[in-house]
Amino acid sequence: MRVETGRILASLAETYPDAKCALVHESPFELLIATILSAQCTDERVNMITPRLFPLYASPDRMLTLSEDELAETIRDCGLFRAKAKNILATCAALLARHGGQVPQRMVDLVALPGVGRKTANVVLSNAFDVPAIAVDTHVFRVARRLGLAQGDTPEKVELELRRRIPRKSWSQAHHWLIWHGRRICHARWPECPRCPLRDCCLAYRSGAVEYR
Ligand code: SF4
Repeated sequence: MRVETGRILASLAETYPDAKCALVHESPFELLIATILSAQCTDERVNMITPRLFPLYASPDRMLTLSEDELAETIRDCGLFRAKAKNILATCAALLARHGGQVPQRMVDLVALPGVGRKTANVVLSNAFDVPAIAVDTHVFRVARRLGLAQGDTPEKVELELRRRIPRKSWSQAHHWLIWHGRRICHARWPECPRCPLRDCCLAYRSGAVEYR
């Protein structure tokens, strides 16, 4: 079955014209911290936590005035809070030591920060610095594979396939479209295929490979 990339992208663009980053932030640093906090946590929950944090600790040196225990206590609602507190403080120290307290704009520098993987780095690059990037989270991974845009069995492979298939100028927007579609219609369990505007060009639906409700 042929994958109709152009039709898929057009349909996503039409369905989600307002798709954008859901993490509330006012600077690259805040976005970096919010994205670290969002691992295995919803953006909604992160957005409930960061108003306790950012007004007082909106820079690496301010954040480092917190002890690991104090930071862990502040973010304890978001899961993995001890590991996240440790990574955030280590990242703040690395930002000061290696980047003059600024968030770097290169993938190689971002992924060298504690607790920052390719997905987090791509989120920061595209949303804070307008660098075309496709962050592959659980929604992007699932939806891209169902639609037939990718077949890879790791986020890295899926990212590479999407970068090859999608025009560079649409990378960042495609990331948001796929996330929004995964949250609203193409759920992990029981996707809502009958009301999905993409079902005519969805590989999983057309081949009967998906159980829907
Ligand atoms: S048709 Fe179903 S599986 Fe395909 S994208 Fe839509 S909701 Fe997801």
